[in-house]
Amino acid sequence: MKTDHDVIVAGGGLAGMIAAQSVSYYSNQRLSVLVIDRNPPVVVGRKTINGWICGDAVSKAAVDYMTERIKVPWGKPEIEHRVKGVMAFSPDRETSIPFDGDGYMLNRQQLPQTQYDSAQKMGVSFDFEVNLANLLYEGNQVVGVEGTNRKTNEPYKKTARVVIDATGVASMLRNGIKNTTKMERKIDRRDVESTGRHIMYFDKGDEDLTEFDPDYCIIHLDQDIAPGGYAWVFPKGQNKVNIGLGIEKSRLEKRNARLGKKDDVSGLINQYVSRNKAIKNPRLSKDSEDKFNATGNWQVSVRRQNDCLVANGFVIVGDSAWMPKPLDAGGIGPAIIAGTMIGKNVVDAIEAGDVTEKGLWQYNIDFINQYGYKTSGLEIFRRLLQTLTNDQISYGMKHFLGDLDAEAISKGEHPKFGMIDKFGMIIRGALNKKLAQGLKFTAKQNSWLTEHYYNYPKVPDGFEEWRKQLHKTLDDSYSKLDSFEN
Ligand SMILES: Cc1cc2nc3c(=O)[nH]c(=O)nc-3n(C[C@H](O)[C@H](O)[C@H](O)COP(=O)(O)OP(=O)(O)OC[C@H]3O[C@@H](n4cnc5c(N)ncnc54)[C@H](O)[C@@H]3O)c2cc1C
Repeated sequence: MKTDHDVIVAGGGLAGMIAAQSVSYYSNQRLSVLVIDRNPPVVVGRKTINGWICGDAVSKAAVDYMTERIKVPWGKPEIEHRVKGVMAFSPDRETSIPFDGDGYMLNRQQLPQTQYDSAQKMGVSFDFEVNLANLLYEGNQVVGVEGTNRKTNEPYKKTARVVIDATGVASMLRNGIKNTTKMERKIDRRDVESTGRHIMYFDKGDEDLTEFDPDYCIIHLDQDIAPGGYAWVFPKGQNKVNIGLGIEKSRLEKRNARLGKKDDVSGLINQYVSRNKAIKNPRLSKDSEDKFNATGNWQVSVRRQNDCLVANGFVIVGDSAWMPKPLDAGGIGPAIIAGTMIGKNVVDAIEAGDVTEKGLWQYNIDFINQYGYKTSGLEIFRRLLQTLTNDQISYGMKHFLGDLDAEAISKGEHPKFGMIDKFGMIIRGALNKKLAQGLKFTAKQNSWLTEHYYNYPKVPDGFEEWRKQLHKTLDDSYSKLDSFEN
């Protein structure tokens, strides 16, 4: 079949732009690539009407991964500020754990403009202001997309050999896909965090590095402040900050019932800002580069990536594939990794003349080997953390997290909690004993799950059996986690 383009990238956000650049790079611009976004060019990549809602933090290592492979550099103005790592504080603030590693604070409004310029130079075409609603099929093969042109209100249709879906967490294309039973369409509500943040300038208040540090992204774990999630103060300069938090809805309801309150996410964020003593007179940024992006709420998934990332003629990347890391909702790193590698997988499939599920399958394996092997273990660990009390978190961070565990977490791996065995019988209190058992349990499940992901089937045929075993282990783990809940 003759198609309008070789590859269509649905969604010109962070992941979609990198995917388009990657296809262009790996095909030496031989393939024609079209990016379709619902926004006009001046606000391309915008997640919602309120902006590019994000904490804006990414590791330098992830950006280097892209630059080294597909020769796409990021610099100023999209990199707004540099940090030395992340500092996580326990609820009682007695323990702080540094996760070192150079990182960047991005300007998410600027970044897509840089990506747009660079993609155009790499030969990528763009259609703007198109609301995509469905995939087009020929038999059992995806052959394009359809939607509505927002400027003319006319129906819009474009065909391609492969469609890359990068339309974000709420993807209608993934939700409605008809030619696969392997790709999941929807996720459990408990695997979604409601989050929000402000980008603000402030006057210097008290000197307190637990509240603001120009060199570190600060994370506050606290089930009263951010139930089932965490709150953050990420520096964007000496007196500029990205400040916000994420919660899990059922945990917020429990917290509100426990404290006799009726707080929602926005209310919690505003309370969090006003109680910060290092930040005086906070006001939303009026910089032109934050003009459409100073405040807003959005959702982020915190589970393993979709069990299958490919279907006939169709692949998913970034938030559409639920790639953000289950432990901290960091989605930029995995979106960069997957976006960078997807070009090679798609180009290889097109050049081999096989753009079926089987021809695109290698993308599943490459993503798992690079990143996805660890996500289901972290999903279980995250579910356990959400059940803990503030006292348990403080105790656990003080006594159970050794240097090796901190190192593992900073690499995005599941900690082994070797300290717990050394601690043995001297753990104080029934709740802390339960916590120790829970942590050892998630570490054990993680070993099995990691091994299982490394045994991801090499071809689609083995998938059903592989998935059956995965889901049995996950279901058993969730039932067991209930017994650790207080
Ligand atoms: C509050 C918050 C804080 C976060 N903090 C961090 C952080 O500090 N570090 C980190 O690594 N990650 C963070 N994340 C996650 C990170 O922002 C995402 O993982 C990342 O933006 C994913 O990029 P994406 O391109 O996959 O999706 P998106 O950024 O959502 O882009 C999707 C694009 O597709 C377009 N689109 C959607 N639907 C359609 C349609 N029907 N038709 C046409 N176009 C469409 C959208 O307009 C947008 O341009 C955070 C998320 C939230 C919500």
